[in-house]
Amino acid sequence: MKKVFCIGELLIDFVAEKQGNDLSKAVEFTKKAGGAPANVSCAISRLGGQSAFIGCVGHDPFGKFLLDVLIDNGVDCSLVQRSDTFTTLAFVSLAEDGERDFVFSRGADMELQYDPEVKKEFKGNMIHFGAATALLGGPLEKAYGHYYFDALTQDIFISFDPNYRGDLWKNKAEKFVMKCLPYIEKAHLCKFSLEEAQLISGKDDLEEACSAIHEMGARIIAVTLGKDGTFLSSSGHTITVPSVPVTPVDTTGAGDAFIGCLLFQISQLEKPTTLSQDFPLLQKMVATANKAGAITTTNYGAIESLPDLNALNT
Ligand code: ATP
Repeated sequence: MKKVFCIGELLIDFVAEKQGNDLSKAVEFTKKAGGAPANVSCAISRLGGQSAFIGCVGHDPFGKFLLDVLIDNGVDCSLVQRSDTFTTLAFVSLAEDGERDFVFSRGADMELQYDPEVKKEFKGNMIHFGAATALLGGPLEKAYGHYYFDALTQDIFISFDPNYRGDLWKNKAEKFVMKCLPYIEKAHLCKFSLEEAQLISGKDDLEEACSAIHEMGARIIAVTLGKDGTFLSSSGHTITVPSVPVTPVDTTGAGDAFIGCLLFQISQLEKPTTLSQDFPLLQKMVATANKAGAITTTNYGAIESLPDLNALNT
């Protein structure tokens, strides 16, 4: 089994207690571990896979809390750095339909420093780049670029999820797209939401969007569509793999559970880098990953509601 290195942000989600509250009215918040690539690392280890997280938290109680959560979930945290800057915080409100609203208070996650020694550990393994905050600048963006180059030189399976957040990029969507392009160019797997696929390709139609993104270099493309399942595109084949019907209460982390479960399955393969040519296998893996995403929506919180193998197999 290959180890999956997940790089990007680890932060506190302060979740507004009462559903339907907008953030301006929220009074009580519950502290939860969050950050898409960190959620992905937990999703992989929860299923029995091997994952390591590369990121930075503060030397404060929130940083300690986050490390404890990842370690409790079996994630290798030996590459997590601590900084004197406060741990990054996100304030989240949930609407009644389970959708979210975010405010970020950015701190230590952007302080990650590149360590050239890490590259040796990549050999024979896999890497997942989750980009919600990583492309916003600072040392993290530099480290991210270096680790990407290292992954290329080690010829390992590369997964990329741009995690576009409109409120972080404001009127700079074009800049965001430009920064994603090098990662898409060499990625074996790209996971997008519909909005991201349309934004990056400049095409509304999903088939056309994927075909444009393949031309940019991406081999396997999975566009997650919430309750409508996942659009999969690879090696000239496309299909919408249906979702598993559930009653969602909180969609936080569904995409992370999905990509985590997909990466977990890919990590069992002898030669993950050739997966794009096996469409029937990919389709099967996406159906299983859809189940992981669906299960995650049936409970509150991202990491807490990630399935283990038992939940996935029942
Ligand atoms: P996020 O960014 O919120 O983590 P996302 O937008 O990347 O999520 P979604 O499309 O919401 O990802 O969800 C990922 C997968 O989880 C979907 O492809 C689907 O299989 C499953 N899923 C999500 N919402 C539902 C739902 N309401 N019912 C059934 N399955 C769902």
